[in-house]
Amino acid sequence: MKEVLALFRLAREEKGRLALSFLCSILVAFFTYAFVNLVQPIMDKLFQLGAAESLPEKARFMDIVFRTLRIEESQLVKFLPLLLLIVIFGKGLFTFLSSYFMKGVGHRVVKRLRDNLFSHLIHQSNSYFDRVPTGDLMSRLTSDVDKIHQAISGSMADFIEEMFILLALLVGVFVIDYRLAIAAFVITPLAVVPLALFSRQLKRKSLIGQKKMSQIFNLLHEAITGNKIIKAFTSEEFEIKKFFKATTSYFQTSMKLAWIGSLSSPFMEFIGGLVGAFILYVGTRRISQGAISPGDFGSFVMAIFMMYTPINRLNRANNVIQQAVASHQRITEVLREPPQILEAPTAYPLPPVRGHVVFEKVSFCYNQTRPTLVDVSFEVGRNETAAFVGLSGAGKTTIINLLSRFYDATSGKIMVDGIDVKEVTLSSLRSQLGLVTQDTILFNDTVRNNIAYGLEIASLERVVEVARAAQAHEFIAALPQGYESLIGERGGQLSSGQRQRLAIARALLKNPPILILDEATSALDTESERLIQIALANVMKNRTTLVIAHRISTIRNADRIFVVDNGRIVESGKHDDLYDRFGIYRKLYDLQFPEREENPS
Ligand code: ATP
Repeated sequence: MKEVLALFRLAREEKGRLALSFLCSILVAFFTYAFVNLVQPIMDKLFQLGAAESLPEKARFMDIVFRTLRIEESQLVKFLPLLLLIVIFGKGLFTFLSSYFMKGVGHRVVKRLRDNLFSHLIHQSNSYFDRVPTGDLMSRLTSDVDKIHQAISGSMADFIEEMFILLALLVGVFVIDYRLAIAAFVITPLAVVPLALFSRQLKRKSLIGQKKMSQIFNLLHEAITGNKIIKAFTSEEFEIKKFFKATTSYFQTSMKLAWIGSLSSPFMEFIGGLVGAFILYVGTRRISQGAISPGDFGSFVMAIFMMYTPINRLNRANNVIQQAVASHQRITEVLREPPQILEAPTAYPLPPVRGHVVFEKVSFCYNQTRPTLVDVSFEVGRNETAAFVGLSGAGKTTIINLLSRFYDATSGKIMVDGIDVKEVTLSSLRSQLGLVTQDTILFNDTVRNNIAYGLEIASLERVVEVARAAQAHEFIAALPQGYESLIGERGGQLSSGQRQRLAIARALLKNPPILILDEATSALDTESERLIQIALANVMKNRTTLVIAHRISTIRNADRIFVVDNGRIVESGKHDDLYDRFGIYRKLYDLQFPEREENPS
């Protein structure tokens, strides 16, 4: 119950619309009440005109209506059909309005929920996405949100409306004749209990039937795929016996199902008939006792019949709401997960930096099992290029991830221009870092917007300028719509070299004082490689660059090289010094660029 309330609380910001929908539901219930009661004067006054005077004395809803509207008995022939039309129209109008308002509530709640989820997710830390499978998050954002939508838009409306209708009908039958009503409700379980038993049996047996059917499928599959083995072992008869046994078992279950299925409908009709006969018996006695009129009895029976729909729909709505409660819990789980990278309460914006980066005894681990970085210390001066080299898995990417604060160091300090990165706001830090990764993420948008990604305004001239510097202008100009061409998701229509040059153009346009570059390991053809080299030289000019290096030229030209091994910086210096030391660097270099072995410098 607590969970259901939590689900309904989602709609609390839509108080106005909820109240309107509530009001309309009450009016629907009122018109349903009126509709049921209309049967009485139709039967008593239209069909038995003249016998009206002999009606048993009792307060009747329609008499109040006639008095209020000042309708004379003689005018009823004319007015009753009109009233019937008005009542049906009123019921329809308010059903429409209540459903419309409630659907509006549902759409608004779901929009807010989706927006909240998205905003929450976009601020989540990288470690969260490492841990939670994308498919799982997608299903929470789509199908779970959909289930809540169904519950609020459809079932909640049904729930409210049908509750009021049921209440109105119950009041109706008790007002018409409470003794008859009590008699009817005493006998009703007679119909409800066997109905519940039948449906339980049907569900159980059909589940067993499904299981047996899948056994048959398994045997078939085995017999077809294992046909050779069956022949080799001459076990055909054995297999046939097994199959016959399975089909016999399925046949028996099917026959039981057929028995229950075929019996249920006439049996229920019979029980319904019994209940009906009983109500008819009591009803006629009540009429002959002068307690009610035939019209009253007509209204009564109509009300009983009309209870079927709300009971049915309430039951269905309950199932949907239960599912939505589970979905709501799954969504709350996502929303409750706090981002792991948090700004300090005293965080201030990082002023424009010159690009001096220092790591001081930085250690880090992704999980508790083993440290990924241990006591990493280094310094990169303004406008210098620092190349990180090491075997795969050594920890190079982790080092640059820490500078962007995608993860936070477990211990030690990372400083930019002498300011600890943990003291400043995340956006001010990241806005001064340019990131060009191996896996260039392009969005499903135009080339121009992809280059200007994240920038509010960027003139076309400036975009073209950076594209030229990134050696991307020529291929962009050759696209059907030039800079306005749409590139498919993840840039599927572009070659990997073109994607990299777009990423470089993007970094150039952002013009950050510090550039983080993860050089692509994938081999490109000579021409592409040449273009990328020029583009990289342009982007690295006049800024501090931390690069995970895979190219000879980058390594050779770097101001400092840091050799990363097993999460530690084991060697550092310039290429020539490092190569002459005959240490890890030399081994790595010779391993990565064997063709240069004879001629290292
Ligand atoms: P490569 O050159 O292959 O990209 P690298 O030197 O950049 O390797 P890192 O990506 O920094 O290496 O990884 C260092 C270690 O941390 C590896 O053992 C890796 O398995 C582990 N690791 C990397 N990312 C995660 C993560 N998100 N969660 C847990 N462990 C990780």
